[in-house]
Amino acid sequence: MISESLVEILKEIPDNVTLVAVSKTKPIEAIKEAYLAGQKDFGENKVQELVAKHEQLPKDIKWHLIGHLQTNKVKYVAPFVHLIHAVDSEKLLLEINKQAQKNNRIIDVLLQFHIAQEDTKFGFSVDECKLLLKNCASILNTRILGVMGMASFVDDETQIRNEFKTLRNIFNELKSEYFGNAPYFSTISMGMSGDYSLAIEEGSTMVRVGSAIFGTR
Ligand SMILES: *Cc1c(COP(=O)(O)O)cnc(C)c1O
Repeated sequence: MISESLVEILKEIPDNVTLVAVSKTKPIEAIKEAYLAGQKDFGENKVQELVAKHEQLPKDIKWHLIGHLQTNKVKYVAPFVHLIHAVDSEKLLLEINKQAQKNNRIIDVLLQFHIAQEDTKFGFSVDECKLLLKNCASILNTRILGVMGMASFVDDETQIRNEFKTLRNIFNELKSEYFGNAPYFSTISMGMSGDYSLAIEEGSTMVRVGSAIFGTR
């Protein structure tokens, strides 16, 4: 039962941690059930699905785009998206800024870091990110709220914990070097169904939980 799982998870996570309910591949009815139980933050990883669900569901839902985003698709989500989690290139950030400007708004984003051992995950290295922050210092229609990362899909808790620690250290480094005067730079998006408790212990402020709420996909 979706609402029961939701309540259980909310009991486990501290007040300062935002729960993003990852509803990808799940039907409208499932999202409505979570919404009626009080959940407002939902995450999707595909633009087309996000747009379709946004059209059909209550407008006070905060939609998080958590998956890889192609530059040519930014325009579809720019009017309404609440937070883009996976900014992984300067080109993408500049396109988000451009579309935000067109829509007369500021779009909040997170910078994705490559923290897993696997090669398949997207994301910046610290050096690449610092170059982006230097090059993009003057853009006005995007606001960088923090960082996002995905740990390796392994059973080894120590490895997962170390990857989360790495992300928290990157966050702290960027905060002190670039965002000292920016209280909004305060989000560490890490932790999924299998590892959100570990992630919270390692400093996560936003967990993205799908299957533990909605069942397996
Ligand atoms: C699917 C997905 C999640 C949620 O995964 P679960 O294991 O179902 O909780 C979290 N983050 C991202 C980026 C995802 O694509």
